[in-house]
Amino acid sequence: MRAPRAIQKTFATRLVVWQRAHGRHDLPWQGEDAYRVWLSEIMLQQTQVATVIPYYQRFVASFPDIAALAAATEEQVLEHWSGLGYYARGRNLHRAARLIADKYHGEFPREFEQILDLPGIGRSTAAAICALAFHERRAILDGNVKRVLARYCGITGWTADKKIEALLWQQAETLLPQRDVAVYIQAQMDMGATLCTRGRPKCGQCPVQDDCAAFQTDRVHQLPTSRPRKVVPERHSTFLLLMSGRDILLEKRAPQGIWGGLWCLPQLDDGQDLVADYVQRNGIVVSERIELDAFTHTFTHFKLHITPVLLHVPHKPLQVQQAGSVWLDVEDALRAAIPTPVRALLKQVRHALPSDRAS
Ligand code: SF4
Repeated sequence: MRAPRAIQKTFATRLVVWQRAHGRHDLPWQGEDAYRVWLSEIMLQQTQVATVIPYYQRFVASFPDIAALAAATEEQVLEHWSGLGYYARGRNLHRAARLIADKYHGEFPREFEQILDLPGIGRSTAAAICALAFHERRAILDGNVKRVLARYCGITGWTADKKIEALLWQQAETLLPQRDVAVYIQAQMDMGATLCTRGRPKCGQCPVQDDCAAFQTDRVHQLPTSRPRKVVPERHSTFLLLMSGRDILLEKRAPQGIWGGLWCLPQLDDGQDLVADYVQRNGIVVSERIELDAFTHTFTHFKLHITPVLLHVPHKPLQVQQAGSVWLDVEDALRAAIPTPVRALLKQVRHALPSDRAS
C-alpha cells in the first residue's frame, strides 16, 4: 500500500482537472436536486448509465418530486422499475419517500446520518448524495471507485472482503481533497466508468498513470483481485403460461424476496411433473399444451433454469381466480410490473397469438 501525502493531493487535483476537460457533464441528474441525485444513485447501483437514463427519465416524468413518489402505490413504482432488476431498490425507494414525507415534511433530509438511516441507502450512497447535492466533503466507495483505488494504490484482495474494504475506505478518506469535492466525486465515477474500466482500461489517457501502482508494476489486469470462486447454486422451475384467448394468468409475488411485489407466472419449483398435478388441483381443462424452449436466468446468487409450459384453456378456471391473481390481455400484462424473464416469455407468446399471425 502506498500514496505519500504529496501524491495524495496530486491524485485529487489531477482527477478534478481531468473531469472538467474529459468527464461527463450531460447526465440528466447532474446539477439537479437531492431527490433526483438520490434516485440516480439508487438506479446506478449494479446498472450501467446507458440503461439507467431512459428509466430515470420515465420515473421523474411520472414522479417529479418526493410527494408524488410517496403518493404512488408500490405497484406503480414497480411498473416503472420493471426490467431494471434488483427490485428491492424500487421498493426501498418508495418506502424512503413515504418516510421522508412523514418525518421530514417531504424535504430530502440534509444530514448524513439522517440520509444513511433511509431504507436502501448505505454509506457510499449517502456520501455521494451529500457530496453531489449538498457539496459536503465526503468520500465514496462504490464499485467503480473500489476498482480505481485498488489499482492506483496497489491493494491486493477481494474488494468485498471486510478487511480490504476497510483499507479502501481508508484510502478514499485520505485521498479526499479539501475543495471541489463534487467534481472530484464525479471524476472518480467517470474514471471508473470510462477510463479505468474492468476489461480494457485506457491507461494511456489516464491522468494518474505516472504513479498508479498497478500500471507501474504491470498488474492492471490482476487488480482488483477477483472474487474467490465458489459454486453458484442452480435451481429448476417450471413457469406456466396459462392462456385463455389473449388473456394470461399472472400471480402477484409476496412483498419479500427477489421478485417481491411483481406480477409473475405460476411457478412450480420441483419440476415439470407437477404440471399435471397443478392442472388437476385447479380443475383446469387444457385444450393444448406446448413446451417452449427452456432457458436460464442468472441472479447474483443463483441460476434459475426455467422450463416454460404454455397451456391453452377454453375457460378461465374459477380456482385460480383468487386474490393475488389476475387474467390480463398479453399487451396489458407487458405493461405491468413484471420481471425480465416473464417479459421475454410474454413477448414470445404475443408473437404467436392468432391476431398477430393474421396481421
Ligand atoms: Fe486505472 Fe490505468 Fe489509470 Fe491505473 S493508470 S488508475 S489502472 S486507468
